[in-house]
Parts: sequence; structure tokens; C-alpha cells
Amino acid sequence: MTNRISEDDKSNSKTERLGRLRKLMAEKGQGALLVSQPENVRYLSGFTGSSGWLLISGRNAILATDFRYVGQAKGEAPYFQVIRIKGEVRDWLPGTVSDLGWHKLGFEANFVSYEAYRKLSEAIKTNQVNLELIPTTGIVEQLRSIKEPEELGFITKAVELADAAVEQARDVIRVGMTEKQAAWEIEKSLRQGGSEGIAFEIIVASGPNSALPHARPTEKAICSGEPLLIDMGAKVGGYCSDLSRTLFLGQANKTFQEIYHIVLNAQAAAIEGIKSEMPASQADRLARSIIEQAGHGDAFGHGLGHGVGLAIHESPMLNPSSSDSLADGMVFTIEPGIYLAGQGGVRIEDMVVLENGRARVLTKASKDT
Ligand code: ZN
Repeated sequence: MTNRISEDDKSNSKTERLGRLRKLMAEKGQGALLVSQPENVRYLSGFTGSSGWLLISGRNAILATDFRYVGQAKGEAPYFQVIRIKGEVRDWLPGTVSDLGWHKLGFEANFVSYEAYRKLSEAIKTNQVNLELIPTTGIVEQLRSIKEPEELGFITKAVELADAAVEQARDVIRVGMTEKQAAWEIEKSLRQGGSEGIAFEIIVASGPNSALPHARPTEKAICSGEPLLIDMGAKVGGYCSDLSRTLFLGQANKTFQEIYHIVLNAQAAAIEGIKSEMPASQADRLARSIIEQAGHGDAFGHGLGHGVGLAIHESPMLNPSSSDSLADGMVFTIEPGIYLAGQGGVRIEDMVVLENGRARVLTKASKDT
């Protein structure tokens, strides 16, 4: 048996996505949609250029891009009619949409800037085009949250590259090395392993710096016994992985030994307890209640996890105020943490996929300190 996916199958996955989008648009009463968020554009059309707009209705699937990308767009998005545009969205959109005979157009409200919206509204008025702009959120993101087998294949490879890089980091990173040097070692091994760059800026934070969940690597030298927080991810086929480990070079002090075990237990409880159809806020609760019981509730200041795919942070969001609901096919992180200001922090992050109602852990990197 082979897992190879032919070009035809790839294209079919795009037509299937378009079909699912049209069904969802119909359910939401959305006749036509303007898609501009780059990962959404790529997901639906296959187009990877940095500037492109999709215009999608029940009948039309149009990819509008400027002269730099027309050739690439035709090659990458065979199921879309590629049109060449010039200038800002206000310059071409009113005319194009009025030619199509559309009078209502949904747009991605969390992606189109207020300035672009304002100029577009003005142009519609000035040109006396009969067009109503309707803000939408999360339509394509909802489709993207459920991964197809092909997508899971890319993610699995990206997870493997991150696993290998953190294992190598254990061998290479030494006391006295700076955080920046350690981050570069990790980036090198990700790229040598075949990663398409890094999924996000690598975090290497040692000692007190590890108390900042999104610390940047500094010139600080890594010391013995202090927490060393590493957070990084690879990219394969456009898909990201996300992995955090907290290591200790030498023996951790008692406080951090204790904290490490609390975080590990919280993560295990979430992995064990998460089920499909569960509200994402309840999944967060599984881990948070353990950290709260241990007296560190205030020190877990972020959500339990987030979806991962073409974007490093995407739907579903697992946090106390999330309104998302978990479903089979979703891929997300489980990453509880405890951060003690001035001392340091511990975060342990795995990626999981929901299958047959339960979480299957994709990450294989060791959790030994
Ligand atoms: Zn993460």
C-alpha cells in the first residue's frame, strides 16, 4: 500500500473544500463571500502567493491577484477562474462584483482592516454600485478546523521534525550557551530535517526568563538547575507543528521539581479526559482544576491549547471563555503551564488529534527533565 497522493486527488480535495464551503455558506444564508485571509485562500484554492482574493458564490470561484502572481495562480489554483487586478481592493472590487451581478458580499471582518473597509465603502458609494458588505467571521476557519487525512499527514511529519529537533537539543545545549545560540541550534536541526523554515520564532527561555510565556531568546547564558523552556515548531506542506518542553541542565530545585509534576499531571488529565463533542472550555477545565488545586491557578495565565494547521494558532481555541466545541478530526495543542514571576516557568506542550472520540497524542518527544 502506498500513501502517495496523486495530483488529481489533491485537486479533488480543493473541489471538495469548495463544496463544503458552499454548503456552509448556504446554511448561514451567505450568498457570496470575499476571502482574503492568506491561509484561507491557500486552503480553498491552493494558491500560496502573498496577495490574492477569492470571490466565491454558488456558481463562481474566482481568484483575483495582481500581475506578479497571475501565472502562479493559474498553476496552483486550477479550479478557480484567475483574474488580474490592479491597485487597492476599492479600485477593482466594486466593478468586478457589479459585473457578477452580486448585491451582497460577505467579507472576513477579522481580517479586512477598518481602513480598507472604509475606502471600499466609499468607492461603492461613489461608483453608485448596489452592493451591501456583510461582516462574517470564522466561516472558512470552521472548515479548516477539521483535518483531512492528507493534512494530518503533513502535520504528522511536522510533529516528527519538531520531536527530532528537541531530542537533538538535549544533546547539543550545554550550560553556558546563550539562549540565542540554543535557539539557532534548534532552527538548524529543524531545517536540516527538512522543515520549510520555522513555524514561528523559536522560544528558548532560561531561569527567570522562562516565567514569560512568550519570551524571546536573549544573550543570557543558560545555568545549571534552572528551567529551560523551549517552544518551537516545524512546517511541512504549509502545515505547522508546535512543541514545548521544559528541560533542566543539572538537577532542578525542589520548587521546580514539584511544579513540573503538577504541569505534567494536568496535561495527562486533559489528554485522558478530552472527548469529542466536549466544549473546549471544559477541556481547559480538566487541566486547570489540577493546577488550581495545587495552589497555582493564578500562575496558569493562558489557555490550555489551540488548533494547529496552516496557521500556528487557529480554531479550535481551548480556554475558559472559548465557545468552540471539540470534534473528531480536530488537531490542537495541550499545553498547560505554571509561571512564577522572577523565578521561572514550566510548560509542557503536545499536539493531539481527536479520533473516535478521544485524543491521540501525535508528539513523541520525551518528557524526562
Ligand atoms: Zn502552542
